[in-house]
Amino acid sequence: MTDLRDLYQEVILDHGKSPRNFGLLETKTSDAHGHNPLCGDTVTIYIEVDGTLIKDVTFEGKGCAISIASASLMTDILKGKQITEAQNLFDLFHSMVSEDSKDIDSYTQTEDLEKLNVLAGVRNYPMRVKCATLPWHAFNAAIAKGSKEVTTE
Ligand code: ZN
Repeated sequence: MTDLRDLYQEVILDHGKSPRNFGLLETKTSDAHGHNPLCGDTVTIYIEVDGTLIKDVTFEGKGCAISIASASLMTDILKGKQITEAQNLFDLFHSMVSEDSKDIDSYTQTEDLEKLNVLAGVRNYPMRVKCATLPWHAFNAAIAKGSKEVTTE
């Protein structure tokens, strides 16, 4: 178990140090900003959506290793997904990091959830849950903003 925790720690540090999909997305169709005042994390999520398909996701931001690693993992996973799949993953991820009664093994059936599982340890640190979920909330806001823009046209 300690080995596994070390591995998770390594993945978080790796993503925190060299985040994937970091930077402005020139082809973005929407974006949203998120702020976690408890920790000082800020993140901006850029998305390129075509119909119901998330073609691309990138982010910019500053914050702790957890928030950056979470944004990095999230953008990696959500690229190429359907919006409904992304929302489903957010629900699962949210309960993964906040419900300590749940058995961790029930979340490891898919490759995506296995990747997100490295962040499941934050459930023991309530302050950190907001760091881990911040990018997801910003992503949701970007999706909501994007679809609002489409419907008012
Ligand atoms: Zn943080």
